[in-house]
Amino acid sequence: MTHYNIPKTLATLWDSHPDQIVDITNETADGSGYWVYFAPGWIYPRGETHFIHEDTVAECLAGFRTIKRCTCAECQRIISRDHRS
Ligand SMILES: [Zn+2]
Repeated sequence: MTHYNIPKTLATLWDSHPDQIVDITNETADGSGYWVYFAPGWIYPRGETHFIHEDTVAECLAGFRTIKRCTCAECQRIISRDHRS
């Protein structure tokens, strides 16, 4: 499913930030916009979510420039688990 049905600009963003993005989905066919899912340790300040959900590619690209380090309990748990394995 990697890069399936993803606009080129979002695929390029993903390729450029493989340590920050784990998945991108295009649900515009259902009127549900684009979803950019983060690796643990990153947060989207606008919604305080671990993903970006916007209607347009431009909004996703602009939103990605605002993401910040996240130190919430969920991220810490996933990161520490991954580091143990
Ligand atoms: Zn977090």
